[in-house]
Formats: sequence, C-alpha cells, structure tokens
Amino acid sequence: MLKLYNTLTKKTQPFKPLHEKRVSLYTCGPTVYSFAHLGNLKTYLFEDILKRVLIYHGYQVKHVMNITDVGHLTSNADSGVDKIEQEALTEQKSAWEIAEFYSQAFFNDLKQLNVIFPKIIAKATDYIPEDLELIKELERQGYTYRTSDGIYFDTSKLKDYGKLTGMNFEQLNKLLKAGARVEFSPEKKHLTDFALWKFSPTSGPKRQMEWSSPWGVGFPGWHLECAVINLKFLAGAFQRGKLIPKKAQTIDLHCGGVDHIPIHHTNEIAEVEAVTKKKFVNFWLHGAFLVVKEGRMGKSEGNAVLLTDLIKKGFHPLSYRYLVLTAHYRTPLEFSWESLKASEESLKNIFDFIYDCLWWQTKYQSEKPQNNLLPLNQIHKKWLEALDDDLNTPQALAAFWELINSYYQIRKNPQLKNKINFKAVYQTALEFDKVFGLKLNKITLPKIDSHLKQLITEREQARQQQQWNKADQLRKEIDKLGYLIEDTADGPKIITKEIYRNY
Ligand SMILES: [Zn+2]
Repeated sequence: MLKLYNTLTKKTQPFKPLHEKRVSLYTCGPTVYSFAHLGNLKTYLFEDILKRVLIYHGYQVKHVMNITDVGHLTSNADSGVDKIEQEALTEQKSAWEIAEFYSQAFFNDLKQLNVIFPKIIAKATDYIPEDLELIKELERQGYTYRTSDGIYFDTSKLKDYGKLTGMNFEQLNKLLKAGARVEFSPEKKHLTDFALWKFSPTSGPKRQMEWSSPWGVGFPGWHLECAVINLKFLAGAFQRGKLIPKKAQTIDLHCGGVDHIPIHHTNEIAEVEAVTKKKFVNFWLHGAFLVVKEGRMGKSEGNAVLLTDLIKKGFHPLSYRYLVLTAHYRTPLEFSWESLKASEESLKNIFDFIYDCLWWQTKYQSEKPQNNLLPLNQIHKKWLEALDDDLNTPQALAAFWELINSYYQIRKNPQLKNKINFKAVYQTALEFDKVFGLKLNKITLPKIDSHLKQLITEREQARQQQQWNKADQLRKEIDKLGYLIEDTADGPKIITKEIYRNY
C-alpha cells in the first residue's frame, strides 16, 4: 500500500483517493520569466515520480499544472514588481512574448527529462474572469479589505489560517515581524495578509498585462491563480463561469517545493477554504531543495545551473533525472559536477545492462530458460515496497542494482548463462522503468547489415589465425561505421556507439 508524507498532518499516511480509482493531482507550475534551473526541475521530477507510482498502482490521474505568467512579484510581501513585466523591460520584449518564450523553454526541459505532461496546463492569464469571481465571493463573505494598492485578504478572519506551517495566525505574524527583511505595506492590517488584486502602478513604466475589475484596473495576486485553477479543473466549483462554492470537491494531492509551504500554499488554502468551508486538499507533498556547497541553488543566489548548461557540457539530460532519483524527495540533494558524472556513469551501466540482456537473448533464445535462477519476484517486491514507502527512490534503485548484479553473476557463469530467462529479466527492468522514466525501452540492438556482418566474420577469422594487424584494421573499419566491438568469451558483442546519445 502506498504511503505518503503529508505536510498537513506531519505524518506518513496510507494514500486513499476520494474516488476509488481516480486521483486529482495539482502541481504548481513555473513562473515563466526566466529559464528553470536544476533546483526548480528537481520538484517537477519528484512530482513525476509520484504520478508514475500512482499510475503504476492503476489510478487514473487527472493532473493539472498552472503556468504563472502574471502576478508573481519580486517580493513575497506584495511589494516589488511583477517578475514578467520586469523581464520584458530588460529584454525589450512584450510581457506576452517573455511568458511564451520561457514556457516553451520549460516544456522543452520537461521533455528532455522525460516528464509525463499534465493533462491540463493552465495559464494564469486565461482565467482572469474566474479570478474576479473568486475575489467577489471572498468580498461577499467578508474576507477582503481595500488599500491604496489593491484588494487584500484579511487572514485574521480565517480561524485555522497557517495550518500547513504548523503555526497559527499569531505565531506566523510574530515570526514575520521578527524576521522582516522586506518592507511591508503599512496599510496591511496584518503581516500575513496578502493581495488578491493589485492595482496597476500609477507611476513608473506602464504595465502591459492589466485588466479592468470592479475595484480598478490591475492584475491578480500570485496565489489566486492556483486557487482558481484548482477550483475550476479539479474541484468542479465553476459552472458556466460562475463560482458555486458548495459544489467544490476536495482534491487528493497538491505538490510543490518546500518554499511554497509558508506563503503560497498557505494562502491558496485560505482563499479556497474561506469560500467553500470545506477541506481544500487531502495530501500536501513538498520536495526539498537542490543545494550546492554554499547553500540553496537559486536564480537570486546566482549559482543556478540550467539543464542546457549540462547538455552543453556533454551530459545526457537523463543523468540529472538519475541523480534526482538517488536522493529521497524530502532530503535536500547536493548538486556537484562530480555527483552528476557519477550519475551518468550509473546510467551508462544501466544502458549497458539492458543492451547486454538484449544481445545475449538473441544468442541463447533457443535454450530453455530457468525462471528461478534470478529472484525476480523478490526483487520486484523490494522495489515496489520502497516506492510505496513515501517514494523511497534510493531504495528502489538499490533493488534495480540488485537485479543487475545478480544478472551479471549468472550471465558470466559458463554453466548457467544459457539458462537465464533473458526476456523476464528485461521485462522486469522495463517494469521498473515505468516509474524511473530512464527511457530504457528505447535501447535496441543495431541492425547488422550484410556488409557489417562480413566485416565481423572476417575479423573473427583473422583473430583465429592470429593475424592481429588485419583484425585491427577490420576493427577500425567497423568503428568507422559507428559500432564498437567487444570481444567476449562468447564471441564478439557489437555495440552502437551512439547508444547513449540516440534518444
Ligand atoms: Zn501554486
């Protein structure tokens, strides 16, 4: 049974969706004002593993993700400027162009990392009418107040505000006051209050993204979009554009990075639960940061590494996926080029194993395999138990390595090698890859044409006749065609040189 650590209850609990086989999953998407760095991508990878485990268990997952293309300010205290508008000025492009460009770059990263795309990807700017509906409802229920720069949510009105953080309203406000490094608007009634609607600034450069509203021209606050997109696509609370709070259903899972807990997710909960009077989300899951020696990896820390940086250095993008798998999602993962190198080595060894399995299967396929040579069921059980234990991917990888090591032990034994059930080993590996997502099913044997076949045969003959120069010459010719030859006790093994790059 799948157990997950729930930030809301601070406990690891058996996961049960509200509807037997259907799971609603919301993941907070990127703010598209720059390229996502490896730290951002770590969160999307953890969420992908979660989704794949759910699918493995036979659930139909309705996954929704937003794209923040408006309203995310440079300061969490509702001051500062809109990150996208700021970038538009810097790059001398329109805010819409900026959002579109970085959205595409982000999708490209996800593709390279073999992340399964959400069923619905919702851009914040596409749901402004729904935002206004939610603010109107909050206003009707008495949760809002107006300042000179916007409409704010009064967090003192919600009795369990802050519950995701494990702190209450007073404790949170005290904490914010003690650690206030940013300027809080003096018109805010409480430090925890947050903007639902910000008015377009009256001075400085004119905003490109702005909409009229009953309160004045402006734009939505960052937390509002996630609340609205959840209410619309997962909770089913909008009907023909109208918000019907009592229709709202609780959502099974909501994820993001740990940095979202105190403000963004806390405020999403406030917005939704204030109007629906119902539990917004059952399970909240949060991924830990990617760190470097000096601390957290981030754009503002100036140490951000992009997926494209890694590819430019010659790394396979999936080596980063592998690196993320080596740590539990709730443990901060330290990034270094050495650890990435080690991950790439492991990934290559896995590719080699799959290839080895396919190659020798063709040689021994006529033999009667013995199913009990490798403890496949036992290893599979270990693998699944690890994943069910709050997505323990390092343990699950250990089970995979147990499979690989026991396979080689037998494959290298002259008495046993032709009794291996290669097909079953291969299929078990592919089964594991349904969750790991390392694209192992893309590894195939090369097509050996008659010319190549002839070269291989001639080389074998030359070797048998100890004509080493000729054999070496032929190896070079084979190499030019893009193949490596590995001489084994069972004859030559041909490997496509592009095996690590071909997909
Ligand atoms: Zn969000």
